Amino acid sequence: KPPIVVSDLADAMGLKPFQLMADLIKLQVFVAPHQAIEPEVAEKLCDQHGFKFEREKREKGAGVHKVEEVFVEPEPEEDVPEDKLELRAPIITFMGHVDHGKTSLLDYVRNSRVAAGEAGGITQHIGAYGVKDDQGRPITLLDTPGHAIFSKMRARGADITDIVVLVVAADDGIMPQTKEAIDHAKAAEKTIIVAVNKCDVAGADPTRVRTQLMEHGLTPVDFGGDIECVDVSAKTGAGMEDLLELLALQAEVLELSANPTANARAAVIEARVQAGKGATATVIVESGTLKVGMPFICGPFSGKIKSMLDDNGKPVKTAGPATPVELLGFAELPNVGDEVVEMESERAAKKLASERQGEKRNERLGGAQKSRLDDFMALA
Ligand code: GDP
Ligand code: MG
Repeated sequence: KPPIVVSDLADAMGLKPFQLMADLIKLQVFVAPHQAIEPEVAEKLCDQHGFKFEREKREKGAGVHKVEEVFVEPEPEEDVPEDKLELRAPIITFMGHVDHGKTSLLDYVRNSRVAAGEAGGITQHIGAYGVKDDQGRPITLLDTPGHAIFSKMRARGADITDIVVLVVAADDGIMPQTKEAIDHAKAAEKTIIVAVNKCDVAGADPTRVRTQLMEHGLTPVDFGGDIECVDVSAKTGAGMEDLLELLALQAEVLELSANPTANARAAVIEARVQAGKGATATVIVESGTLKVGMPFICGPFSGKIKSMLDDNGKPVKTAGPATPVELLGFAELPNVGDEVVEMESERAAKKLASERQGEKRNERLGGAQKSRLDDFMALA
């Protein structure tokens, strides 16, 4: 078998020999670039750089080594060392039936909490806001991305919500989507706080809402249960301080933390194509810290963070856990519910993306063939 020379191996991986020398020293292997290393050592080096080491047999019986790139998406960190954890803002999602006032409630909180002048003239709706609670601690509010997306994120483990605010209009009561929201929140074992909205409207019946909640297995505190219910109005602002106080209290109980130094991951909650910006997405950082210039993978697409805007539309260079930002730098429109995951290099991100696109194509082709076969069988 031919020797595995360090400089050849570096070449095969598109690296300079000196880039491997440091790794070799760490492995306690002291060789010069023109010298040979053991296959086990070569394998380790390949592994560290996202390559798979393979030995191939040649016709004449002489072996040759071949390195093949295999990039994988970094897994979420599991057991985070205690000293790396930092407190983070709770992520609070407003859910409920259409027109019951989710967006209005969010807008009310935002407008009442944003210091005068800070938001500027144009407030862009990105569906996720960071605000401060009454103690000045940050909280992140999320307009419901739709129940289907909520379930999808949960199924993928990208479930970012900490607390669900169930919005029920007092003049309408529990409706089909309210019921869905309750089922989702229960299945995902989320803390539920109920905002009984539109209490200013003539014909509002907050007591009836409470009775209906009980019928759906949520017993309000004032009925002897453990579900906090607050009567509010997004129009007049009545009860909003109470709601915010409750949220802050609940967040404190949960003691949420994340590792800002971990490999960055962020969940896509909205995506759209915008004139002059191209494909953009609103993301919420789950762990690690997004940085301008960072290469990433998002579903079948690779990208590199071109710029980021905060919820006031101001450019930011970094975004840590629980922060919502608008992200620019996608090659294609990402899927809502997918995750933006930091990759080691642009090359790695691109390679993984093309692999995934190839897989998708094969799936589609396979599917088409199968359906043709099914048609054929149906005719037979
Ligand atoms: P969403 O579909 O749950 O996001 O509901 P919206 O926030 O879009 O509200 C639907 C409609 O109800 C809008 O016309 C709001 O102005 C109105 N609305 C929302 N909250 C209140 C409220 O507390 N009182 C009154 N009177 N109208 C409200
Ligand atoms: Mg809305």
